[in-house]
Amino acid sequence: MQPNYRRCVSCRQVGPKAEFWRVVRAYPDGTVRVGEGMGRSAYLCPQADCLRQAQKKSRLGRALKVNVPEEIYQRLWHQLEESKAKFGAIASPPPVPKV
Ligand SMILES: [Zn+2]
Repeated sequence: MQPNYRRCVSCRQVGPKAEFWRVVRAYPDGTVRVGEGMGRSAYLCPQADCLRQAQKKSRLGRALKVNVPEEIYQRLWHQLEESKAKFGAIASPPPVPKV
C-alpha cells in the first residue's frame, strides 16, 4: 500500500487518506471521535453504503476495539447529508465556455 493510503473498514477500498472519514479512539481517554485526536484510527468512505455497513456490522467498533457510541454514527450521517447538500448543487458541472 502506498504511504498515506488507507483502507475503508466496510468495503476494503484503498485510497488517499484525505478521502476517508477518520474515526479515532482518542488517546488517552479512549473516547471515540471523528476526524480529530491521536490514537487508534479507522477509516471509512464518506458514503451511505459504507456507513450503513459499518453501523450494522460494527466495523468501526471492531477496528478500534471499542464500543462506538450511536452519536458517532449519527454525526457521520449528518455529515453525509451536509456534504450531499453542498455538492448536490454543483452536481452538474458548469458549461465550458466556447472559444
Ligand atoms: Zn468504503
